[in-house]
Amino acid sequence: MSKIKSLIRKTSKPASAVVTSTTQNTNSTDIDTASKSNTPVNTPIEQTRWNGWGNVNINKKVSTHGAKLIKSHIGKTKKLSSVSLQEVLKKVPKSRLPAAITNLDMVSIDNEDRLRHARGQSFPDWIAMHGGEFKVFPDGVAMPQSTSDVETLLQLAREHDLIVIPYGGGTSVVGHINPPKDSRPVLTVAMSKMDQLIDLDFESQIATFGAGSQGPAVEAQLDEHGYRLGHYPQSWELSTLGGWVAARSSGQQSLGYGRIEQMFAGGTLVTPQGVLNIADIPASSAGPDLREMVMGTEGRAGIFTEVKMRVQPQPEEELFKVVFLPNWKAGKAVLRQAVQKNIRLSMLRLSNAVETDAHLHLGTSPSQFLAISTYLKARGLDSQKVMLTYGVTGDKAQNKLALNQFKQLLKQQNSVTGKITDIMGSVWAHGRFKFPYLRGTLWEKGIMVDTFETATNWNNIDEQMQQMQEAVQTSLSDEGEEVMVFTHISHVYKQGASLYTTYFFRAGKDHTSTLTRWQKIKHAASLSLANGTATISHQHGVGRDHAPYLAAEKGELGIQVTKDMLKSLDPEKRMNPGALLED
Ligand SMILES: Cc1cc2nc3c(=O)[nH]c(=O)nc-3n(C[C@H](O)[C@H](O)[C@H](O)COP(=O)(O)OP(=O)(O)OC[C@H]3O[C@@H](n4cnc5c(N)ncnc54)[C@H](O)[C@@H]3O)c2cc1C
Repeated sequence: MSKIKSLIRKTSKPASAVVTSTTQNTNSTDIDTASKSNTPVNTPIEQTRWNGWGNVNINKKVSTHGAKLIKSHIGKTKKLSSVSLQEVLKKVPKSRLPAAITNLDMVSIDNEDRLRHARGQSFPDWIAMHGGEFKVFPDGVAMPQSTSDVETLLQLAREHDLIVIPYGGGTSVVGHINPPKDSRPVLTVAMSKMDQLIDLDFESQIATFGAGSQGPAVEAQLDEHGYRLGHYPQSWELSTLGGWVAARSSGQQSLGYGRIEQMFAGGTLVTPQGVLNIADIPASSAGPDLREMVMGTEGRAGIFTEVKMRVQPQPEEELFKVVFLPNWKAGKAVLRQAVQKNIRLSMLRLSNAVETDAHLHLGTSPSQFLAISTYLKARGLDSQKVMLTYGVTGDKAQNKLALNQFKQLLKQQNSVTGKITDIMGSVWAHGRFKFPYLRGTLWEKGIMVDTFETATNWNNIDEQMQQMQEAVQTSLSDEGEEVMVFTHISHVYKQGASLYTTYFFRAGKDHTSTLTRWQKIKHAASLSLANGTATISHQHGVGRDHAPYLAAEKGELGIQVTKDMLKSLDPEKRMNPGALLED
């Protein structure tokens, strides 16, 4: 049995529980995690798919009329072949790690452990996992249980000249955690054993967690004390606090709870040059902000071991609703006004007309589809209609006020709402973390799907969306292939909003030709973003896939400053080289 699997099964006291809390506040609780038999822990990695998304026991069906709609855009499809786990395991080479590392209890060189930590969830990762062409595997996987374990690992990495890749949930969609081909051995440091709530300061509302805590473990442990973090990326099921901070993640309710930047108060970053403690001071005018500086470093500055997060009491009420508007212009006006007028909603999402139609097809049974379509048609909505999903989170009086204010805006734009759309809101909330499972179902049908996202100012939203969509739509025209593309606004700010684009295309005759198709689409999409008015990524980060386009956003001097900062923490470039910056 692999060393990591045996570690997962051990019930030994997590080291995080014995770390002394630095919070001096008398209202703070030193959580004795070991004493709680029901303390939730992360999903064990063997319960997740080795070559796809999520829990092996969860699947999501695609409706026949949904698949038909996609094929009406892209044409007939053919399934790509998939290799077996056993076939790939045979390809894992001998580990190059020295005995000083492999002798550590926390390090595994088991082939399956190495394989399961070799790839994330990007499109090239799926191609590699299904085609069996991983090319590079980490030489070993360490599973530390404490900050001092991580310090030991980085010390040994220096002594033995290793590359180190911090690994959270492995949900990266831009090639963050893939081991590079290098003469130095690669040690992946998986944080999944550091998944406990360590301290909760009720008065300051600061929770200290092991950085490897996945979304459900974070919320379940806070919920025991009546608290909530409120960070819900769609990858919530498996992604971790450390990954969210390191890749500047954004959750579905960022409008209410803020992005990870607003939640991350400080913590411990173990770097090759020593431990950087970032104090959890509410605000400071004492020079440049180290807290901001380490966010988004994507494993290149060091490893977050403990993170201090701003939390809040559980809300009294939370509601999600759906409403339809006649067209994109009307929907966009509602979103912009709502955020600029400070209406206290916790979520706003606007699908464009093509996405609205696709959602209605993909998310419904034929009878539901007929009922909703008939209802909307009878109320005068045509093919230009757009779907707006929104939420309120807070106490009842506050929610009531926000809903009333929002309804005024909706009315001005001739919205259509009713019992049926309210049900759609609840259905969305119930299935919000299940959508990613569709990717595997579509993959089995030869339908390739991927996404990209950006943010720009309100005055540029329409032009940016049009440019991106056109770039993607025409990117395979040299092969005579059609790409189906649609977009939604998913995070709103007073200044602007994020745009999240989904596209579908046909698998090629094999894995290589399919990857080539993706590369063409990705390049066209990235060029349409690297124009100085939109970001290369609003929430997924840079990783290896976006690194070539980063200079267009940051400028030459900006890249140099970033390089110099990383050099001071990691002069030997052993931390996750190739992610964030190309070199
Ligand atoms: C289906 C799906 C849906 C998604 N939806 C969203 C979404 O709604 N919003 C969003 O923001 N993102 C989303 N993502 C992208 C991804 O989940 C985020 O980038 C997330 O922040 C990654 O977290 P992770 O723990 O999985 O990190 P990983 O993928 O393991 O790593 C990401 C980066 O962080 C670094 N890292 C991880 N842990 C640490 C640590 N403790 N210390 C230092 N560095 C570390 C790694 O080295 C790497 O560079 C989605 C991904 C998928 C597959």
